[in-house]
Amino acid sequence: MRRAILLTAACLLGHAPTAFATPAQQALAPESAPTTSFPIDGAHRYGGPVTRFGGGRGHQGTDVFADCGTRLRAAAAGRVRDAKFHGSAGHYVVISTASGRDHVYAHLRIPSRLKAGDRVAAGDTIGSVGDSGNAWDCHLHFETWTAPGWYAGGRPVDPLPLLKSLRAG
Ligand SMILES: [Zn+2]
Repeated sequence: MRRAILLTAACLLGHAPTAFATPAQQALAPESAPTTSFPIDGAHRYGGPVTRFGGGRGHQGTDVFADCGTRLRAAAAGRVRDAKFHGSAGHYVVISTASGRDHVYAHLRIPSRLKAGDRVAAGDTIGSVGDSGNAWDCHLHFETWTAPGWYAGGRPVDPLPLLKSLRAG
């Protein structure tokens, strides 16, 4: 009984001898690349009700505050749909993710190096936290849009559950 439990644990930890790995199993390794990433690489905090999705007048995202210049990372893999400047959003990046949802990162400190069409992996640097556009303090304004996406027929949904799941992970 005890032996069986130990064997199960060894399998879960991936300690099976590699000599017995099938080609399919070998193709899955390495698995170090993250499938998701919290978008702010540093200390951050959420604001009051007005900074939440639906707060204030037509707030379509959630604001996450952090020190100016804190690195921003792609929350999920995808392809850059747009990376430009807008009077309200400031420097922003829109990434279409594999799930069909679009992720929008706004108020970047300086223009992102990413361009429309670029592929990004989860965790890739997309810029840094700033206050460009209509922002009163350095923060990430983060939006999530259902397929087919950002101003393309999708609709914005509350990104907070996603953000909290990423933080937990
Ligand atoms: Zn905002």
